[in-house]
Amino acid sequence: MSAIDLHARASKDYAAKLAETTALLVKAAADYSPAEVTQASSLGAEDVVISHIINSHALDIGIFVLETGRLHPETLALLDQFKASSLAPVSVYTPVNESVVQFVDREGKDAMYKSIALRKACCGIRKMEPLGRALDGKKGWISGLRREQSGARADVPLVDVSEPRTKLNPLANWTWGDVWHYIAENKVAYNPLHDAFFPSIGCEPCTRAISLGEDFRSGRWWWEAELEGGAAKECGLHVKHEEGNGSEEAADAPVSSLLSSRAPA
Ligand code: SF4
Repeated sequence: MSAIDLHARASKDYAAKLAETTALLVKAAADYSPAEVTQASSLGAEDVVISHIINSHALDIGIFVLETGRLHPETLALLDQFKASSLAPVSVYTPVNESVVQFVDREGKDAMYKSIALRKACCGIRKMEPLGRALDGKKGWISGLRREQSGARADVPLVDVSEPRTKLNPLANWTWGDVWHYIAENKVAYNPLHDAFFPSIGCEPCTRAISLGEDFRSGRWWWEAELEGGAAKECGLHVKHEEGNGSEEAADAPVSSLLSSRAPA
């Protein structure tokens, strides 16, 4: 049974949500120059939906992928396919080779299992540093965060102006069923790992399939609960950064006007 068979169930207000998402992306493309806004894609189900909307409306928004060097072969194959088919430019950011080599020499290839600190160090080298380069000079970025994904994401707004850089979460109020309904309806290419019970896909050593009833993100860094009493199931990409002046940014954020007319449900 495929992920589409299992999950594709549109919610009652799916059409309104899709219209809202599309309007947000169209407005982002109008308000920002292509150099100022970008979509961060892990090539997961939510991200392929957003990229598909960007491409089908020919929006002037680039897309970037962090190729950490530890992705699944299925994800790498999808990345090749996506780069070949996307109208929007796709940029791939890789970690600094020297940093990876030094870290692996010092701590071992699978150091992430030894402690949360080493896992975070690996994420720092393979994800956070490349993310910094990908977002350099950007005023806004687009993510596939949804409120339903975890308790930590339950309050994700459609437009987040609380950080120095405006973050757009156009699928914030979509259900998992909505995501798969869109993929099915539009025949969007997706990662086959989703058919093998991987709802959330990251690096190969840090992602596993989940069982029925398990939390959506329980397949990420699952061993940490035993290491040090649990963790937030986040690699840092979507953890709020307290530094910077979010309130000043809020005043300038061009898409923040959507908040007044389109409050998230
Ligand atoms: S998810 Fe795992 S392999 Fe990937 S960067 Fe983080 S610790 Fe390293």
